[in-house]
Amino acid sequence: MPWIDVERCSGCGICVEGCPVNAISVENQKAKMNMEECIRCGTCHSVCPVEAVRHDSEKIPEDIKANVEMTKKYMQDCAKYLGDDKEKDKCLERMLKHFNKERIVAEKTLEQLEKLKDI
Ligand code: SF4
Ligand code: SF4
Repeated sequence: MPWIDVERCSGCGICVEGCPVNAISVENQKAKMNMEECIRCGTCHSVCPVEAVRHDSEKIPEDIKANVEMTKKYMQDCAKYLGDDKEKDKCLERMLKHFNKERIVAEKTLEQLEKLKDI
């Protein structure tokens, strides 16, 4: 999914004009996307003169870091609220299951999406 690098965005509004579903607005000189409306057409990425519309893949390191930090917080909270340090390990097991499920969903979804190339 596209996202706006606000440091690069000049607020020129070119992407607003180009978006076919009016999913972008400019607020305080910065473009803002409404992802509920966005149809992932990529036009904003193509028309932005300063490459402020970025690809989702660039957020992979950031997303991984956020997931690890979130898991560490849950582990600490489980130990704190349940009053037992062993709860950290149980919490970690649950998070491992959660992300394993996410992986399976992603893999199976990719398989199904590849089949869409044939229709
Ligand atoms: S075209 Fe680029 S610089 Fe202009 S408002 Fe959109 S994201 Fe910002
Ligand atoms: S990807 Fe397409 S629909 Fe989504 S914000 Fe950009 S121009 Fe609009």
